[in-house]
Amino acid sequence: MTLPCQFPQQRPYNVGQVVNIKAKVNRAFNSSMEVGIQVASEDLCSEKQWSVCKALATFVAYRELSKVKLKQTTPRTEEEKTEHSVAAERRRMRLLYADTIKDLLANCAIQDDLESRDCSCMVPAEKTRVESVELVLPPHANHQGNTFGGQIMAWMENVATIAASRLCRAHPTLKAIEMFHFRGPSQVGDRLVLKAIVNNAFKHSMEVGVCVEAYRQEAETHRRHINSAFMTFVVLGADEQPRTLPWIRPQPGDGERRYREASARKKIRLDRKYIVSCKQAEMPLSVPWDPSNQVYLSYNNVSSLKMLVAKDNWVLSSEVNQVRLYTLEEDKFLSFHMEMSVHVDTTQAFLLLSDLLRRPEWDKHYRS
Ligand code: ADP
Repeated sequence: MTLPCQFPQQRPYNVGQVVNIKAKVNRAFNSSMEVGIQVASEDLCSEKQWSVCKALATFVAYRELSKVKLKQTTPRTEEEKTEHSVAAERRRMRLLYADTIKDLLANCAIQDDLESRDCSCMVPAEKTRVESVELVLPPHANHQGNTFGGQIMAWMENVATIAASRLCRAHPTLKAIEMFHFRGPSQVGDRLVLKAIVNNAFKHSMEVGVCVEAYRQEAETHRRHINSAFMTFVVLGADEQPRTLPWIRPQPGDGERRYREASARKKIRLDRKYIVSCKQAEMPLSVPWDPSNQVYLSYNNVSSLKMLVAKDNWVLSSEVNQVRLYTLEEDKFLSFHMEMSVHVDTTQAFLLLSDLLRRPEWDKHYRS
């Protein structure tokens, strides 16, 4: 089972050029593992080489329907060590994705956003809706009769590209695929219904959502939801720079919900750029704090702290005036944990803790 969680396309390649694909397990967790894939291209005449795209896929290992406990990988080079630790950060963000979206939605006002725009240059989202049906034939499937994931992705990209071109009336370029979930298999003989619509258009990019359902018999009313993905497109001008796109007017109900969710996904994607990037010299490993991401960041920090605190080998080293100091020694790391009970409103505590600049307000001992 694969879940590519990120797929930013950097530069395309053309007929006659060589494609080099490298894949490696970055980290094994319990039964899931993160695989990093890098696609590079090479022009044999000019000997130029360039990166085409990168993807991160999560695989889950199963043997006879039960999950397999994986052996841990040992990173050796500096690059492998960074990937190994960043993979855990990415996994945490993926597992928290639904909560993060919920938090971001609670803080975003769609109405102001839409009302402040000029209606005459808005495209109704309905105009971009696309639906198509594909019959899974033997060449589309592997030896077990299951449809190749890549084939489904190609069909999904087709419908998404048509939806995107209905907004921009030009040839759009795929930039990234988000949260591509393989929810269940489909087999030879299944019909796949692919549905796409532009969820939101930003200044220079748009998000198209695609959903895939499978059914076997024409008369069958039950459709299995097998895939969903969110694709980001841009329209490049003659100067290779992204062109400004028209705004979209979502349908009330599901359309407005998807419009807001697309904005939240864009925000996460931008914040995540810091984390998925391993160029530590250029970017910090964690997301810099700013008022718009405090809720989301706090989740990340709190979940790391919860994991650390939950370890059972903390040792109480000292206790003075009801302040307890615990230590934990693991590998090369020594962690400290100070514990003191306070009685304060949770909202107040959350606000204080989510901004480290306010630490002197709650930690009397901070400066000393
Ligand atoms: P959600 O509706 O929560 O976004 P779904 O998995 O149902 O999640 O759908 C994924 C995406 O597929 C949607 O965001 C939307 O862009 C697109 N989609 C879903 N249903 C339709 C439909 N009936 N017609 C066109 N596009 C659709």
